[in-house]
Formats: sequence, C-alpha cells, structure tokens
Amino acid sequence: MFRIGFGQDLHRFAEGSSLRLGGVSIPFERKLLGHSDADVLLHAIADALLGAAGLGDIGELFPDTSEENRGRDSAEILMICNEAIENEGWKVSNLDCVVSAERPKLGALKKAMRDRIAGILGVEPSRVNVKAKTGEGVGPIGRSEAIEATAVVLLESIKE
Ligand code: MG
Repeated sequence: MFRIGFGQDLHRFAEGSSLRLGGVSIPFERKLLGHSDADVLLHAIADALLGAAGLGDIGELFPDTSEENRGRDSAEILMICNEAIENEGWKVSNLDCVVSAERPKLGALKKAMRDRIAGILGVEPSRVNVKAKTGEGVGPIGRSEAIEATAVVLLESIKE
C-alpha cells in the first residue's frame, strides 16, 4: 500500500545572476551549474519519487548528454516523474526535504518553494515540507561552493 523513496543532489555555483530552487527563481549573485536549470531541490525530489516506485533515477530518464534536456525547466522534469509514478499506480502521500545552502538565506523562501512543489505534484501544500539548513561555514556547502538537497517521499497506492 505504501512505498518510501529517498533522493539527494548537489550542484556547484558558477558565475551568474539568479538560481532556481524548488521551482522558484531567486535573484542571487551566482547561479547553479547544471545541464538543466540545475534546480537541485526538484532533482532530489524527482529521484525520491522514482526510487519509491522502483523506476530508477533522474539520470536515466533525463540524460545530461541529451540536447532536449539542456536548460530544461526542472518543474517539467518533476511533472513527468510524477506522471510516471501515477502510471505505476502510486501518488504522493507526503514529502519532506532539506536544502542545505550557506547563501542565499532561504528561510523566507521556504513557503514559496513548498507551495510551488505542491502545485507541480498536484497535492495540498500540507503534504509537502521544505527545511533549510546552512553548512555551518565548513565543507563545500559552508564555503558556498555548492547547494545540496535531500528528499524523502511516501507514496500510497491509488488502487482501492
Ligand atoms: Mg541535478
């Protein structure tokens, strides 16, 4: 009746002027580097969904060697993954995730990310939770070299 899935992703910073996190555009003096729009949080969530349904991982479905995926909106990637789990007879029961970033400060953006993720997945915002952490000044997160995200999702069967 239930399936659990876990996802993790990390993208490093590069020169730029904004980044995308949880499907929300955030003005910032750097961007995240990636083949798609580098939305590290949506990638972690997509992998959690795929993992729970036994459907592999985001790299298999959306290879970074494909021109089709260059600069691709990760909201679209997550939507396709959500359709894939629905086709297998599952829907999201709830989702919890953590974004680890020294900068930008994400506290004020958690609700916007939560609402956006819930919208992409077609569930009520109360089924989605977004937590923000720093890197305590150490490691690649703390030195503002990268942003990392982890997500855990519970799927429930659509069938009666
Ligand atoms: Mg990624």
